[in-house]
Amino acid sequence: MKTTMNVKHVLLVGLCLCGTAAMAQPTLKQAGKYAQTITPADLKKHLTIVASAEMEGRETATPGEYKAAAYIIEQMKAIGLQPGNNGQWTQSYNVYRDSLTEASLEVNGSKLNLYKDFSATTANYNSHMSFGEVVYVNMEDSLWKNNKVDVSGRLVLVRMKAPAAGAGGRGFFGGPAMVVGQLQAKGAAAVLVLGDRINDGKEPVMSGMTVVKDPARQGINFFSVSDAAAAQLLGADAATEKGGKLQSKNIKASVHFSYHEKQITLVSNNILGFLEGTDKKDEFLVVTGHYDHIGRRGDIINYGADDDGSGTVSVLELAEAFVKAKAEGKGPRRSILFMTVSGEEKGLWGSAHYGNNPVYPLEKTTANLNIDMIGRTDTVYESKKDSALYVYLVGEDKLSSDLPGVSVLANKNLKMVLDGRYNDPLDKSRIYFRSDHYNFAKHGVPILFYFDGIHRDYHRPTDTVDKIEFELMAKRAQLVFLTAWEIANRNEMLKRDKPLPATALTR
Ligand SMILES: [Zn+2]
Repeated sequence: MKTTMNVKHVLLVGLCLCGTAAMAQPTLKQAGKYAQTITPADLKKHLTIVASAEMEGRETATPGEYKAAAYIIEQMKAIGLQPGNNGQWTQSYNVYRDSLTEASLEVNGSKLNLYKDFSATTANYNSHMSFGEVVYVNMEDSLWKNNKVDVSGRLVLVRMKAPAAGAGGRGFFGGPAMVVGQLQAKGAAAVLVLGDRINDGKEPVMSGMTVVKDPARQGINFFSVSDAAAAQLLGADAATEKGGKLQSKNIKASVHFSYHEKQITLVSNNILGFLEGTDKKDEFLVVTGHYDHIGRRGDIINYGADDDGSGTVSVLELAEAFVKAKAEGKGPRRSILFMTVSGEEKGLWGSAHYGNNPVYPLEKTTANLNIDMIGRTDTVYESKKDSALYVYLVGEDKLSSDLPGVSVLANKNLKMVLDGRYNDPLDKSRIYFRSDHYNFAKHGVPILFYFDGIHRDYHRPTDTVDKIEFELMAKRAQLVFLTAWEIANRNEMLKRDKPLPATALTR
């Protein structure tokens, strides 16, 4: 009797557990209702603030970033998320800004004028150096090409090539950095560069960018010098040199320079909001968008409505939808970290910092869904009106064979065109390496990246809220939400069974 009773009891308990477990597992069918709470109106309400003039283009480690951060935290609180970093809403990291305090250059006893005869950038390092000789290098001549010019430990005078027509002017490859890098590799101590901009006696208008360099990385100093200043070294050879016909040679001269700058340490913040899961709360899904942008140049603001105001406010709307589901007993099984990162435009700094200092173990992080620009239509899709409901989906073919299936399920009712063209390893834009998801992927975390393509207002002051297609953006955000829902609720974490694509050499 007793035994029988016990067996019955056990059976009943067993049945009850099964019932409870089934009820606790939200199905993708139930998600549609919550996806609908991600509306064009809500996205617009947030984005109008995030991409407003008051946020000043949200450049990393500027007041604009801090204002945007404050808004995001306020919204995460209002939504009902928990602080995601051990009781804090922020995860901070240092950035460094250099400003020139003094630069002098003296050639054969005469002092040159800063910004008239020579200029110096904050790529330099504090130093004072003197030389009794200058090595003139002609990178086109056979002496140089055959390695017959010794620049080791010496001061070099060199002319950089004029940027090719249509090459975008004085970018990294058109500027002095390339030629200086080559000379540094050969051991040069310092470089005087001919052919660069000097600035006509005016202090250059700084771009407004936080000029940041890695304090651990030591380069060599270089100054751009005018043809007139170089003539004091070249003498009668100046005209031949300008014509490109002067052979590499040593020149006796006395040159002194000094360079001093001060470095200010600034702080930037990732913003982390957390929603605890139910029966799998020790496994995590991370949803990201970068809230920083490229700031302003004087009075001209780069609003960054699409890049990446659209991702930032989508992260908030996804969070709100999940919190609502949880309040109605359909909370995600896995915990979800909603994180807006900074420093993206500077070089994926915020996500790199999180990747190296994860608050939640990356081996327990089932996936990262990253949103960077989902509010516009690119030039490719602009021309084909009938398939305008699209998003570029990147990363499906990498790291996990579960990813494509998850996206197909999430897209079942939305029927969006999931364009995978940027998965092509030969694609020149190298999108897979260019946004924050890469800092998860490189640690083995499967990722999906959502992106609308490159449009004509990309990184321009004209990337404004009035150009955002909110209906389209809401659909894309709903796709990310439904994908997040499926990943957070499925029985197993996404398996990690495919290799990370090889890193390309340059970003
Ligand atoms: Zn971006």
